[in-house]
Amino acid sequence: MSVQQETAIVVGGGIYGLCTAWALARRGFQVTVLEAGSLPNPRGSSHDEHRIIRHAYGKLEGYARLMPAAFAVWDTLWSDLGVRHLAPIGASYFVRHDDNWMEPTIRALDEMAIGYRLTPIDEARTRFPMIETEGLQAVVETEGAGMLFPARILNDLVVHLSAIGVDLITGAQVDAIDPERGTALVGGTLYAADRIVVCTGPWIDRLVPDLRGKAVPSRQAVLYLAPPPELAKAWSEAPVIVTRGREGGLYTMPPRYGMRFKVGDHRFSREGDPDGDRVPTALDIERVRTLFAEGFRLSDEYRPLEAKACYYTVTEDEAFIVRPLGARGHFISACSGHGFKLAALVADRLAARLAGELDDAELTAYCAARPLAEVRP
Ligand SMILES: Cc1cc2nc3c(=O)[nH]c(=O)nc-3n(C[C@H](O)[C@H](O)[C@H](O)COP(=O)(O)OP(=O)(O)OC[C@H]3O[C@@H](n4cnc5c(N)ncnc54)[C@H](O)[C@@H]3O)c2cc1C
Repeated sequence: MSVQQETAIVVGGGIYGLCTAWALARRGFQVTVLEAGSLPNPRGSSHDEHRIIRHAYGKLEGYARLMPAAFAVWDTLWSDLGVRHLAPIGASYFVRHDDNWMEPTIRALDEMAIGYRLTPIDEARTRFPMIETEGLQAVVETEGAGMLFPARILNDLVVHLSAIGVDLITGAQVDAIDPERGTALVGGTLYAADRIVVCTGPWIDRLVPDLRGKAVPSRQAVLYLAPPPELAKAWSEAPVIVTRGREGGLYTMPPRYGMRFKVGDHRFSREGDPDGDRVPTALDIERVRTLFAEGFRLSDEYRPLEAKACYYTVTEDEAFIVRPLGARGHFISACSGHGFKLAALVADRLAARLAGELDDAELTAYCAARPLAEVRP
């Protein structure tokens, strides 16, 4: 007698939806992905040239501790895809204002035995000629970090999922879900499955109204620039660089591995509509440019290539919300500024939950990087 294959609908085809489809398919589920746009979708939070992956996490120490497991699940994905979309170039932090970031970061790196080095500022001046060293308090160079390549990952996931029989349906805007029945309504068509998982990124509160006001869409600007020729060599060998100033953090992705140089900030705007236009305002650009000028030499000499506005959602404490929804549903709201690096791991844990390997309280606590006692009623 053949055992009936369990079925699952995944709503949303960003990195969370695609990784969830992958992790469920690996556990034997027959999966259908319903994506409102294209696959991949350039309007999603996930679509870009690069994302940072790292163990250095400041006050979010719980998330730092998930990183070894996160790297391990990415390795499983690379093995299934037959290609590794991660450049382990390290990350260096240039601290002008330490709002209690350094101490928990170093503690977590020590605990996980991740290599790092506190670099004397005089040495940093020579080795990092792009950095403005005036006012610098500390420099730390870390291992266990680098760039993920989202556009390549999403493309390869789409190809892989299609090859292993996942049903990928584009242009499928889900108007409503019934998590008790495991159904999703797209126009006049009703899709039904044993399980339904909602992974709709910055649009999550449309299908999970309880999240309204808790997971807030935040419009963030990123700038792609061409560095001045005199800094080209330094940038071609550079790690991911993060500066931490009084006005907040700024990150830069070096122009390596065929990707453009990118700069963005870590200050949450907590405003905007992900369905709105993606043209950054002069103010959006100014916010990033000001921090860039504070931390980097010759900042005016970087030529603009593109500026774009993107969205993620933020929660008050930056924790991911992953919870059950009715009898057959779950949702993942990890669309925070640090969500990409943990996508494969969180999706794997959700699939483990649906396969009966852990319970809902364990899943929620794990993804929020909290002790279980804090979430189990
Ligand atoms: C500028 C920027 C920089 C970032 N930097 C980093 C970083 O360096 N490191 C890091 O780890 N993370 C980073 N992140 C965060 C990370 O990219 C996100 O957490 C992650 O991509 C969220 O993925 P997602 O799948 O939840 O959302 P999305 O990628 O937005 O996917 C959601 C999908 O759901 C679809 N959808 C929505 N509603 C419906 C519906 N009703 N029916 C059907 N489909 C629907 C959408 O079309 C979309 O394709 C950054 C994010 C941004 C925006």
